[in-house]
Amino acid sequence: MNALEVAASVRAGATTAVEVVAECLERVATRNAELNVFIHLDAEGALASAARVDERVAAGASLPLAGVPVALKDNLCVRGQPTTAGSRILAGWRPPYDATVVGRLAGAGAVALGKANMDEFAMGSSTETSAYGPTRNPLDPTRVPGGSSGGSAAAVAAGMVPVALGSDTGGSIRQPAALCGLVGVKPTYGLVSRYGLIAFASSLDQIGPFAHTVAEAALVLEVIAGHDPLDTTSLPEPAPELSSHLDDGVAGRRVGLVRELVEGADPEVLDAVRRAAETLTRAGATVEEVSIPEIKLGLSAYYLIAPAEASSNLARYDGVRYGLRVDGPDVEAMNVATRTVGFGDEVKRRIMLGTYALSAGYYDAYYGQALKVRTRMIEAFARAYARVDTLLGATAPSVAFALGAKTQDPLAMYLSDVFTIPTNLAGEAAVSVPFGAGEGGLPIGVQLLGPARSEARLLAAARVLEAEGGR
Ligand code: GLN
Repeated sequence: MNALEVAASVRAGATTAVEVVAECLERVATRNAELNVFIHLDAEGALASAARVDERVAAGASLPLAGVPVALKDNLCVRGQPTTAGSRILAGWRPPYDATVVGRLAGAGAVALGKANMDEFAMGSSTETSAYGPTRNPLDPTRVPGGSSGGSAAAVAAGMVPVALGSDTGGSIRQPAALCGLVGVKPTYGLVSRYGLIAFASSLDQIGPFAHTVAEAALVLEVIAGHDPLDTTSLPEPAPELSSHLDDGVAGRRVGLVRELVEGADPEVLDAVRRAAETLTRAGATVEEVSIPEIKLGLSAYYLIAPAEASSNLARYDGVRYGLRVDGPDVEAMNVATRTVGFGDEVKRRIMLGTYALSAGYYDAYYGQALKVRTRMIEAFARAYARVDTLLGATAPSVAFALGAKTQDPLAMYLSDVFTIPTNLAGEAAVSVPFGAGEGGLPIGVQLLGPARSEARLLAAARVLEAEGGR
């Protein structure tokens, strides 16, 4: 099921949004118990929204996503619907407003089926830190779908919806896209409004799409991007044109294969990236090897900056304003009891790391140093983009790993994002596109990176790789 085909068929009256949504709900019913993709399903609401889409189409509205079912990562606020960010501490909380992206999707005729599972507060790379149990990879249910947007990726990979939204703070769209054989886009910082996104690390978080194809991802991104006065970090410009540039190709482009974005990857992943480089060369690009040593500092800087911001953002979950409250003899005891019960181990680890990095006497040595590394990273990327226009590397070091394989070893889990984190630190754009297969026939993703606002170019290059498929 392709989102473009669904929308065209609903617009033409060949099928109805209600029929499409009902069919998707059946697929959810067949596999959700096994895969644990949706942690909240709103079947009735989805069918009612679909009926309204059919009325709008009948009244002559031309909706780009007419009747297209979508899954929303559970850190996106939907008015009146459970929104937990995968955490026990938000159990029972229902937001009083819609995230901007949720409103834009609905305005374009898309129909949200419900909330997709995720690592708690988006902290993780496997969807195993969710308080609501892990999600399984539809391509091999003994493996993880990646994370933290694993539910959104699995929903698309399982054919429950054609497209989904996730969020990417350090790789949480691109890595699960790679592990589930999908296209995933981490847009330029500020391109997509975060109003109504539950914050993890505000200087890094971005919302973006998952889809089977580049064209579908481009369409969804066009719908959700563009200035929003409700998000002060939103770029003051309209959504870029992406769909009209999909066939631009890569002729004359200069591509840099980044040594540090393949170092340590499994040989089969390295091989896929090399074949991707060859494909781009055959399509008319010039590919050269480049080295950006600063990339190696990315993981360390990220695990100071992201936890520091998270420790501040998560201070609001105090038992007073949102979700869970565990009572105690006084307010402080209530705060402590609520946070002790409400947060899982990984979230507590991040809050402690972040609080430590920001504390008096350590601030300059840890948080301050990390910010300097971040500046160097931004400058290093800028130097690279003075020579080449696109960078190429792996998305993840391996194909999907087994459930439980890294849950006891936080550092091993953190290393899943070693190739994706640098983009977030730089605030730039990147796309993961499936290219070839590895162990057990599982998909491999390759990553295309570009400067801020380079989405159209990256998607055109991704399309060249998609056409070849990595075979
Ligand atoms: N896996 C990384 C982390 O745990 C990135 C998560 C994300 O992008 N939300 O922080």
